[in-house]
Amino acid sequence: MSKRLLILDDESAVAQTMEVVARRSGFDVRCCVDPAVFFVELERWQPSHVVVDLVMPKMDGIEVIRLLASRGCAAWLIVTSGMGAKILESARRVATQRGLNFLGLLPKPFTPKALRELLDCPPPQDSLHSQQSMWAAYTEDDITPEVLEQAIACEQFELHYQPRLQLSSGRLAGFEALVRWEHPDLGTIRPSRFIPMAEACGLIGALSDWVFRTGLRWLAGQPASREVSLSLNLSPSALQDLALADALSAQCAQLGLATQRVTLELTESSAVRNFGDALDILTRLRIKGFHLSIDDFGTGYASMTQLSRLPFTELKVDKSFVMSMVGSSESRDIVAASLDLGQKLGLTTVAEGVENTGTLQLLKALGCDQVQGYLLARPMPADAARDWTPSL
Ligand code: C2E
Ligand code: MG
Ligand code: MG
Repeated sequence: MSKRLLILDDESAVAQTMEVVARRSGFDVRCCVDPAVFFVELERWQPSHVVVDLVMPKMDGIEVIRLLASRGCAAWLIVTSGMGAKILESARRVATQRGLNFLGLLPKPFTPKALRELLDCPPPQDSLHSQQSMWAAYTEDDITPEVLEQAIACEQFELHYQPRLQLSSGRLAGFEALVRWEHPDLGTIRPSRFIPMAEACGLIGALSDWVFRTGLRWLAGQPASREVSLSLNLSPSALQDLALADALSAQCAQLGLATQRVTLELTESSAVRNFGDALDILTRLRIKGFHLSIDDFGTGYASMTQLSRLPFTELKVDKSFVMSMVGSSESRDIVAASLDLGQKLGLTTVAEGVENTGTLQLLKALGCDQVQGYLLARPMPADAARDWTPSL
C-alpha cells in the first residue's frame, strides 16, 4: 500500500512541520485546514494515514473522528492536540470504540522524532481491518444519528410513489410520496427504521425539506394531461414550524403548481397529541389551499369534537383495519364506522392497505371514495410512477 498522509490541522505552521517529517519517512503528504476539504480529499485520495487536530474553529476533532467512523474510514489515525493527556485519551477511546484504526496520540508541542516513530511503526496486525471487511460487518445496528445526518447531507434518499384510485370510476386520483434510504451497503431501508430516529435527533426537518422539494418537483414534471395530486407525510415536529405554510406555498408557486394538488398527511395520533399546534398549522396550510389528510385513522383515538374542529379535508383509514377487514368482523366494523364518520364530516374517505379484491368489494359497498394498496400497486420509483396507469 502506498504511504499517503492526509493532515487536518488549522495551524498551517504545525501542518508544515508534520509534512516535512512525513516526507522524510517516505510519505506523500496533503494538508488541509478546513474539515470540508479534508473529507473531499479523504474520498478522492484514499490516504493510508490521517492526522486530526482536536481543536479547530469549524468542527472539533471529535466530530471529525465520528464522521470518519461513520464513513468506514480504514486509514491509520493519529490524533494530535495541545489540550493535555486527558482529552487525548478520551479522543483515543472515541476512535477505538467506533472501530477506527487508531495508530497513536501526538501531544503538542511534538518533536519530529515523536511523529516519525508513529509514522514508521508497523501497524498492529491484530486490529487491522481493511475497508472491505469493515463494510462487510456493517449492519443495521450501525445506523446511528451521525450516519443518518451524513446520509441526509449526501441526499442518499429516494422517493417512491404509491398510486390511489377513485373507487367509483377506477381512475387515478393521485400518489403518496414515501421516502426510502438507499444505503450503499445495506440497500433500501424502510422509513420505519429511520424516521423515528430522525424525529428524536432533530434531523426530521432537513429530511422533510428534501422530501417536499423532491416530491413537488416530481409533481411539476407530470404530463399536463395527468392532473394528479400528491400526498406528502408531515412529521409531528412540522406542527412547530409556523413558516411551513408559507415555505410550501412559495415552492408550489415557483414550480407553477396549484396548492390544491398537494395533500399533507398528519397521523391521527400526532394531531391529537398536539391539538393546539395542529389547529394553528393546519389552518394556515388550509388557507393556502393545501388539502389535509388525517392519516392512520383509527389508531389515535381522536374525539368527534377534535376531528370536527381541525380543518381536515380527507380521512385515511389505517391499513391495519383495512388489511384484516375480510376476516375480522371487528375490523370491518371499525372501517365502516370510520368511513361513516368521514362521510358525516364531509371528508374524502380513503382506505390504505387494500391487498385483495374481497377488501375492494367491501369498501365499495361501504361507499369509500378512494383506495390505496398493494392490490393496485406497491410504492414505485419516480420514473415508473410517471408512466403508471391503473388496470383495475
Ligand atoms: P403511511 O403514511 O401510513 O404510509 C403507508 C404505508 O403503508 C407505506 O409504508 C406503504 O408502503 C404501506 N402500504 C401501502 N399499501 C400497503 C398494502 O397494501 N399492504 C401493506 N402491508 N402495506 C402497504 P412505508 O413506505 O414503509 O411507510 C411507513 C410510514 O413511514 C408511513 O406510513 C409514514 O408514516 C412514514 N413515512 C414515509 N415516508 C415519509 C416521509 O417522507 N416523511 C415522514 N414524516 N414520514 C414518512
Ligand atoms: Mg401517509
Ligand atoms: Mg397511513
